[in-house]
Amino acid sequence: MIKYILNTENYTKENLVKLLQANLQERELIFEKSSSIKEEHIANKVYLRALIEFSNHCEKDCLYCGIRKSNSSPKRYTIPQEEIYKTIDIAIAKGYSSIVIQAGECKEPEFIEAIDNALIYAKDQSGGKLGITLSLGEQEKSTYKRWFDLGGHRYLLRIESSNKQLFETIHPRNENHSFETRLQKLKELKEIGYQVGTGVMIGLPNQTLEDLAGDLLFMKEFDIDMCGMGPYIVSPDTPLAKLAHKIPSEESRVDLSLKMIALLRLLMKDINIASTTALQTLTDRAREEGIKVGANIIMPNLTAVDFKDSYKLYNKKTDLKSHDDTLSAIEEQMTRVGHKVEIGNWGDSIHFQRKTTN
Ligand code: SAH
Repeated sequence: MIKYILNTENYTKENLVKLLQANLQERELIFEKSSSIKEEHIANKVYLRALIEFSNHCEKDCLYCGIRKSNSSPKRYTIPQEEIYKTIDIAIAKGYSSIVIQAGECKEPEFIEAIDNALIYAKDQSGGKLGITLSLGEQEKSTYKRWFDLGGHRYLLRIESSNKQLFETIHPRNENHSFETRLQKLKELKEIGYQVGTGVMIGLPNQTLEDLAGDLLFMKEFDIDMCGMGPYIVSPDTPLAKLAHKIPSEESRVDLSLKMIALLRLLMKDINIASTTALQTLTDRAREEGIKVGANIIMPNLTAVDFKDSYKLYNKKTDLKSHDDTLSAIEEQMTRVGHKVEIGNWGDSIHFQRKTTN
């Protein structure tokens, strides 16, 4: 059956569910196909995005997230301007060709201006060479436009779950956490001209395989350029932690996440897909597995230790040792799985490039 679906490439929701159910032997067939599709369409190259966790202040109260507004445990910080500039200098000096600026959601003018300044600095310091992805939540369209004009060219905003009912069980039910707004914001980012990335959490309480299959079809339908998705990891002191008994085992969440990456690669042959930190957090080497089965992006964390410890979206059981996240360590890990880390090249989504040049 698995073989038949893969051969006919008939990826209906029903068939995607069957593929998600594949056992350990069967899943190898999926992985073989997804890795060869990747090799054929985008080659076995991995691009890096140095992650800067700019601030953990957040106006949102997402029920799963460790930096949600109502959580009093994290010490709140925003990296001061000079420190951000220093981090950008380090990214450039280390040879990274792209950075990701991520933070909790904040719409204060000071915050927006701080991002403006970081963009201006990054572009100036690198002579326009540093690629910049933003991951700063829902903002006014004018803000998205302003950052785009200052040089941000990729934006990550996860839909979290494309099933509105499930979305509503993992967010407070109020205006500030609306499924429709999230969709609208994704559309705005596209209209402005960003390469748009989205993604979902995998293994949420009450999430079904039909939901995950629906997520894959949603990404295809929305015609995304990039994807970052990974396992849901319980964050203590959050409301969703009370449902921890309802989630699949760690092993199953890793299995499902790898299958989701592989299946998305089958559906969207030339987009950028990240092998996420959350995956690595659950199982050592899972990040390499993610690359093997279809992902092509890794986001090493460049946030200074003093801040990094307070940016806890979830419980980092086996936090990545910083020495595992150096350029040379990643190069070594990638060589082990037959991939080459590309330096000095943005590695923009080929899917996006094809769309815009056609
Ligand atoms: N505020 C920004 C970016 C920070 S959160 C935004 O909302 O886009 C980045 C992502 O971390 C979220 O989109 C969510 O999918 C993920 N995340 C948050 N809590 C998590 C958890 N407990 N387990 C796994 N992923 C989580």
